Amino acid sequence: MKKVCIDIDDVIFKTASHILETLGLFFNEQYSINSLSIYDIEECLKLPSDIVTDAIDIAVSNEYPELEKDSRKTIKWLSQFYDITLLTSRNGSEYLDCTLDALANRDIIYNSLRFGKDKVSFINSMSIEVFIEDNPEYIKDVVDTCNTTVLVYDKPWNKQFKESQYLHRVYNWQEVKEWFMIKLGG
Ligand SMILES: [Mg+2]
Repeated sequence: MKKVCIDIDDVIFKTASHILETLGLFFNEQYSINSLSIYDIEECLKLPSDIVTDAIDIAVSNEYPELEKDSRKTIKWLSQFYDITLLTSRNGSEYLDCTLDALANRDIIYNSLRFGKDKVSFINSMSIEVFIEDNPEYIKDVVDTCNTTVLVYDKPWNKQFKESQYLHRVYNWQEVKEWFMIKLGG
C-alpha cells in the first residue's frame, strides 16, 4: 500500500488557535492567527518565551483538541487507499499519552504514529508518496531533498511557497480529498 505522512498540529488539530486563546487569557488580549506571519509566536507577538512555552504546553496537552474542519472524515476516507503515518515533531517522551488520547478522543484513524524532529530522514527512508504539512522548515527540506509531493496546508506562516511539481497548496481538507481523488483517478 502506498504511504502518506500527515503532520498533527495545525493540520489535523487547530493547535495554534488554542495557543493564542491561552495567551489571550493570560494577557486579557485577543490574538489573531493572521499575526503569525512566521512560524514563531514569541517573535510575532513580542511575548516572553517562558509564557509562550506554557501556552504551547497547555495546547499540546489538550486531550480534546478542536479539529481542522473535515480532517477526521478525510483521513478516514484516505485510509482506504493509503497507509497513514502521523508524523509529529512533538516530544514523544513528554507528550506520548496526551497525543494518543487526543487522537483516540477525536477518532482519528492511522496506521502508525511517529514522534521527532527527523521528519525528513524518515520520509526519505520510507518512500512516502505524499506529505501533508504546515511547518515551513519541513516543507522546504522535503521539497528540496525527497521525491515526495508536499501538500502545504495553508497557514499565515507558510505563504512563501509557490506551486511546483512537488508542491501543492491546500486550503482545507475538502481540497485535500479532491486532490487525492484526481490522483487516484488518473
Ligand atoms: Mg504542524
